[in-house]
Amino acid sequence: MNPIDYLRISLIDRCNFQCVYCMPEGADLDYALREHWLSQAEILQLLQTVFIPLGFRKFRLTGGEPLLRPDVVKLVAAIAQLPETQDLAMTTNAYKLADMAEDLYQAGLRRINISLDSLQPDTFQKIIGGRGRSRWHQVWAGIQAAHRVGFSPLKLNVVVIPGVNDSEVLDLAALTLDRAWHVRFIEFMPIGNDDLFTHKGWIDSESLRQQIRDRWGLAESAVRGNGPADVFQIPGAKGTVGFISQMSDCFCDRCNRMRLSADGWLRPCLLNETGQINLRQALRQGQPLADIRAQVAELLAAKPDINFKMRDSGTTGAYSRTMSQIGG
Ligand code: SAM
Ligand code: SF4
Repeated sequence: MNPIDYLRISLIDRCNFQCVYCMPEGADLDYALREHWLSQAEILQLLQTVFIPLGFRKFRLTGGEPLLRPDVVKLVAAIAQLPETQDLAMTTNAYKLADMAEDLYQAGLRRINISLDSLQPDTFQKIIGGRGRSRWHQVWAGIQAAHRVGFSPLKLNVVVIPGVNDSEVLDLAALTLDRAWHVRFIEFMPIGNDDLFTHKGWIDSESLRQQIRDRWGLAESAVRGNGPADVFQIPGAKGTVGFISQMSDCFCDRCNRMRLSADGWLRPCLLNETGQINLRQALRQGQPLADIRAQVAELLAAKPDINFKMRDSGTTGAYSRTMSQIGG
C-alpha cells in the first residue's frame, strides 16, 4: 500500500468555464458561500498542524478554477516555503495563466497541469461552453507562457469524449514530438455529467494507445509520475503520453490522495463521501487541533478499506458534488 501523503486542495469551487464533462449546462450547482471558503490562514494552519504531522508532503492546488482565487499567488508562496513541502503542483484551465505564470513561478510553483481538450478553437469552445473563439487562443497563450517561464513538468490533460474530440488524439499526441510536454489522456468518468456519459460513452486508453502505436510506435517511458498515469513515449519524442484509465483499469486500491474542498470538507475518495469531515467547522468551532488531527488520522486509517471497496464496486460511489466542487 502506498503511503497516503498527497493532498489535493481545492481553492475555489467556481469556474470560468463550464466543460461539458464536468459542469453540465443548466446544472444547479450548490456553490459554497464565500465566507465558507477556507482562508489562507486556515489552509496553512491545517497543513502545519494536521496534514504535515500526519505525513503529507505533496500538495496540488486545484478547483473549480484555482486561478480565480484572488490570493492564489500568496498561497502558492506560503505553501512552497513550508520546509516539509516536497512537491507543489497546480491543475488549471490556464485561461488566466498568460498573465500569472511568471508570478506563480516566482512564488515557487514548478509543476503545472493544464486542461486542453482540443486543438481546434471551435471544438474547444463547444467543450468549455460559452461563446467566442478567443478562449482557446487565451489558453494556448497561457500554455506558451508556462513553457517560457520554465514550468516542468508541463502536463496537458485531455478528457476524451467519443464524437467530440476523439479524432484529435494523434494531433494532441504529436505535441510531444518536439516539446518536452506530457500529454495525458483521461478516460471520461461518469461524474459531473451523467447524461453526456450515458449518451456518448467513453473510450478506453488501450484503443487510444493503439492509434498512437500504429502511427509512430510507442514504448513504455522511463519517466514515472507520482500519480495514476501509465506513461509512454513515442520513439524519439521529447515529451511523453500518459493514460489515466480509471474506467478500464480501476486504480482505487493504489490511491494515495485525500481531497480538501474549498469549504473545508476532507474526503478520502473522489467518488465516495464515506467518513468525510468538515475541517472548516471544526476549526471555526474552536476544536483543539490535536482532536482534529486525531479525526483525520482515523479517516486516513480507514482509507485503505475504502480504496478496496471502491475497487470492488467499480467507480460508482455515493457522491453528490461535481469534480469542480470536490476539487478534481
Ligand atoms: N479547472 C481546472 C482544470 O480544468 O484543469 C482544475 C479543476 S478540474 C475539475 C480537474 C481535472 O478534472 C481536469 O483535468 C478535468 O479534465 C478533470 N475532469 C473533470 N470532470 C471529469 C470527468 N467527468 N471525467 C474525467 N475527468 C474529469
Ligand atoms: Fe472548470 Fe476545470 Fe471543470 Fe472545466 S474541468 S468546468 S475548467 S473546473
